[in-house]
Amino acid sequence: MEIPLLDLKGQYKLVKETVQINIERVLDSAHYINGPLNKKFEEQIKSYISIKHAIGVANGTDALVLALEALGIGVGDEVITTTFTYYATAEAIAYVGATPVFVDVDLNDYNILVSKIEEKITKNTKAIIAVHIFGNPCDMDEINIIAKKNELYVIEDAAQAIGSSYKGKMIGSLSDIATFSFFPTKNLGAYGDGGMITTDSDELATIITALKTHGSGSNGKKAFDLLNGISNDTSSEDLENQVYSAKKYYNYIVGHNSRLDEIQAAVLISKLPYLDSWNKKRNKNAEEYNNLLFGVKHPGSNNQSYSCYHLYVIQSENRADLVEHLKKNGISTGVYYPVPMHLQEVFKYLGYKEGDLPNSEYLSKRTLAIPAHEMLEKKEVKYIIDKVNSFKEK
Ligand SMILES: *Cc1c(COP(=O)(O)O)cnc(C)c1O
Repeated sequence: MEIPLLDLKGQYKLVKETVQINIERVLDSAHYINGPLNKKFEEQIKSYISIKHAIGVANGTDALVLALEALGIGVGDEVITTTFTYYATAEAIAYVGATPVFVDVDLNDYNILVSKIEEKITKNTKAIIAVHIFGNPCDMDEINIIAKKNELYVIEDAAQAIGSSYKGKMIGSLSDIATFSFFPTKNLGAYGDGGMITTDSDELATIITALKTHGSGSNGKKAFDLLNGISNDTSSEDLENQVYSAKKYYNYIVGHNSRLDEIQAAVLISKLPYLDSWNKKRNKNAEEYNNLLFGVKHPGSNNQSYSCYHLYVIQSENRADLVEHLKKNGISTGVYYPVPMHLQEVFKYLGYKEGDLPNSEYLSKRTLAIPAHEMLEKKEVKYIIDKVNSFKEK
């Protein structure tokens, strides 16, 4: 039996017809930028997350950069986040010129150790980025309490957590700004790059909408006013109407070209209706694993939140051997993450050393993801359980 970590080909078979119809619609319309499907997809995400604004962008990394810039975060500022994450979280902080400040993680759920956040706050701290790692929600109430007390912004990096919820509220609606990625391997994957920003703030939405299109035109002027504390009408204007408008050649701020591709919007609209059932399937697989895997540590279920199980990550004392054993039996695995952020070469200048954030270092040597995706059949889940359980530690 050959079992991949993710089955995008199998998924495509389910959505092929709709995807092709929707892509063809874009091609026929010749409306390739800021078109109607972008707008429709943003509306769908707004209602899915229960949020006032959803803004399509080019990818999840840009979403983080735009979020930080919209909050006015840059040189001289510090942003607290988890060391056990995908590089883009930390990269975005450094990209805007701010300093990433890394916090260790919980050994059970792999998320930021909330009890270690406050000791990292200085007069330069501006924000906390909470990453819902592997789809499992952070304790947002606790994080928001700390942020409020210390007058910090909170950003959710929800790249891995679309469809997850915390105390009945959708992930992406629990902070000042949340960011999503539609990288093909994410739970809602495009057929290329894509991203989304959600926020309840009209002002932040206006700034982000301007920033993603060079900060030009009337949105750019409004964003300039907002970023400089000048009060004016701040409602953002429809980008679609700016495509052929002379206004777009008047520039006010340095922005980006970071739009969600119209063809990717067509793909995402076709796949969104499946998301909840796919996440449910992942949950069912995870529950089987929680109940039936032994000899390896695995994430427990959490009664205050619902995870979309972007990845199902176990811990093994003999990771390399277990990976080899599973590979021999046709089961693909992946290591997330082999090097925590504070020990990455790129962040050497920050002065961290081995032993500084011990839980993340412990996990980086032991974690591996096993297939838990929505296309698995019952007998495959059983096969994986058998093969993990039959592994004898040396
Ligand atoms: C995937 C991911 C990103 C980046 O998203 P891209 O769309 O690939 O740019 C950011 N943060 C986390 C935690 C991710 O998993």
